[in-house]
Amino acid sequence: MAVHLEQALAKLKTTGVRMTPQRHAILAFLLDSMTHPTADDIYKSLESKFPNMSVATVYNNLKVFIESGLVRELTYGDSSSRFDADMTDHYHAVCEGCGKISDFEYPPLHDIENTAAGQTGFRVSGYRLEVYGVCPDCIGITKH
Ligand code: ZN
Ligand code: MN
Repeated sequence: MAVHLEQALAKLKTTGVRMTPQRHAILAFLLDSMTHPTADDIYKSLESKFPNMSVATVYNNLKVFIESGLVRELTYGDSSSRFDADMTDHYHAVCEGCGKISDFEYPPLHDIENTAAGQTGFRVSGYRLEVYGVCPDCIGITKH
């Protein structure tokens, strides 16, 4: 399900976060791209538009979005984090060949937090599920 920029901006307004042209551009880029970019990817895509912007600026703005609940960070050990502005319930398939991350849905799993809370007594704040494998593009390459 696509998240619209206007909705995200309205949500940001309720959190009292000041909107700047850079923040607007970063959020629009994230909502537009389905690729789960790194902070560096975002920086490279926007640097021509904002010559004074650094990767650190991008990262700091992403942190603000994460704290506002507009963006989620996908951490992968020591490699750089990827960012996702789609906050709907969905999961990720990660390609072990090229690093591509594709979205998929699995509605039967949506009750997992309640089930976990019921069985453990935890107040569950979230969970993470990923599948790993080889994406269609990389399968195509290895077939030759
Ligand atoms: Zn791949
Ligand atoms: Mn995603």
